[in-house]
Amino acid sequence: MALERTFSIIKPDATRRNLTGKINAMLEDAGLRIIAQRRIQLTRAMAEGFYAVHAERPFFGDLCDFMTSGPVVIQVLEGEDAVAKNREVMGATNPEDAAIGTIRKTFAESIEANSAHGSDSAENAAIEISYFFADVELVG
Ligand code: GDP
Repeated sequence: MALERTFSIIKPDATRRNLTGKINAMLEDAGLRIIAQRRIQLTRAMAEGFYAVHAERPFFGDLCDFMTSGPVVIQVLEGEDAVAKNREVMGATNPEDAAIGTIRKTFAESIEANSAHGSDSAENAAIEISYFFADVELVG
């Protein structure tokens, strides 16, 4: 197993319901270490750039509206197999399909307002981390 880093977002539906601490506890209980964290308001340009890979999907506009509808907490998580572990703790995209005990099963409101983002590969994690954080902000 390898020590890895992944990128995470606590989404606006979760910050609106004051769930940052509860979600962080689930991440930490799974063995992930929060080595960088910042609460920010995404601009439209930031949301569109971050989700550019989904630009052709029918829900792209709605997704960017949602992601700019309130504050988000952006994070870098570190741990053994952090990318896969974070995906496991988050659960499936659609909360109806997510396993019991996962962040999305516990907190998500819908397939869109699903409380958390996590990188889907180590390669994308590196891209997403550098989109928001400078190397000096990552304190492992
Ligand atoms: P993830 O990797 O599990 O976050 O899923 P995706 O990369 O496929 O989708 C990115 C984000 O787009 C999801 O986390 C949801 O917030 C949103 N999303 C995905 N599928 C749908 C959909 O069918 N409808 C809507 N409105 N949003 C979606």
